[in-house]
Amino acid sequence: MREVGCPEEDLFSFLSSKRREDLGYRNILSSMCTPPHPVAARAHAIFLETNLGDPGLFPGTAALEDLLVRRLGTLMHHADAGGYATSGGTESNIQALRIAKRQKSVKSPNVVIPASSHFSFTKACDILGLEMRTVPLDAEFRMDTEAVDGFIDNNTVALVGVVGTTEYGVVDPIARLAEIALDRDVFLHVDAAFGGMVVPFLDSPVPFDFRLPGVSSISIDPHKMGMSTIPAGCLLTRNPDWFACLNVDTPYLTVKRECTLAGTRPGASVAAAVAVLEYLGMDGMRAVVAGCMENTRRLIEGMETFGYPRAVTPDVNVATFSCDRMPPGWRVSTTRNGHMRIVCMPHVTRDVVERFLVDMGDIDA
Ligand SMILES: *Cc1c(COP(=O)(O)O)cnc(C)c1O
Repeated sequence: MREVGCPEEDLFSFLSSKRREDLGYRNILSSMCTPPHPVAARAHAIFLETNLGDPGLFPGTAALEDLLVRRLGTLMHHADAGGYATSGGTESNIQALRIAKRQKSVKSPNVVIPASSHFSFTKACDILGLEMRTVPLDAEFRMDTEAVDGFIDNNTVALVGVVGTTEYGVVDPIARLAEIALDRDVFLHVDAAFGGMVVPFLDSPVPFDFRLPGVSSISIDPHKMGMSTIPAGCLLTRNPDWFACLNVDTPYLTVKRECTLAGTRPGASVAAAVAVLEYLGMDGMRAVVAGCMENTRRLIEGMETFGYPRAVTPDVNVATFSCDRMPPGWRVSTTRNGHMRIVCMPHVTRDVVERFLVDMGDIDA
């Protein structure tokens, strides 16, 4: 550190210069994050100093966390679901598998997950000492449910399905997985970190949530399609009591026990997540999602006109293509299989899609 502090103006000119090195979201087509909704930013500012790790000191903020869990639980068709606000999908997935592991005491525990799963499961399995059994995908990049049964044995503590895969934006056959989970008596965790804030707002949503009796827990991220500030995730469980198995004693806090992974936890991004849900309501979210899906369809149509076929027809707003050219100035990403991947987040407006297509046309010319 400096011996003597830096003048505020110099400091902020330094910080601003660093901030200018960041890319604006304008040309970013590769991210599952998006600029926060204005009400999220406004709410965040009000709750800057709040710490949900010591909820007795911040009962108002803690009530907002309860409201977030209740709203998302209701969205997942289980108003009395258990849950808490996590730092995102990674923490939610780790905690879900921790609960599953606690519920079944076996010598060499394993989890059965689709090959399309997010890399957070690699971390979770490493931390929790779980063998990761990877189930292959079908031709449309969904978990091959025919194969699932063969991967489950007496040491399987959890089965995982994904709603809105990170790479291809497809939804695993959760209804089928839920049947298998009931049949084999296995904990089913649904990773809806991305799709949880998309699928419920589609015209004809496929059931993937607590309506299916086999579903045990769900990850859902307000900091992706929920347009909250970062970090805002949520883990929901069918039975609120399941979190008790994660409790540790917290002698010097206002609560005696906590089940969260993080200790000090931001209230600001939780208030921001609540703000967006309250402000937009179902109607507003449907409009946002309808716009993103429409832009996804337009992008696919435009790319196919140039001779770049879709890799799959996505269930959510992620488009993938057989295309190895990228117009300069744009950020797109590439999947493990080498497909171009574009996430049509709210900042990827129709206008942005059209500009991108014009630039794609130009590199072909
Ligand atoms: C983004 C994502 C995650 C990880 O969430 P973070 O918030 O980045 O920790 C997990 N699973 C899926 C399906 C995701 O899309």
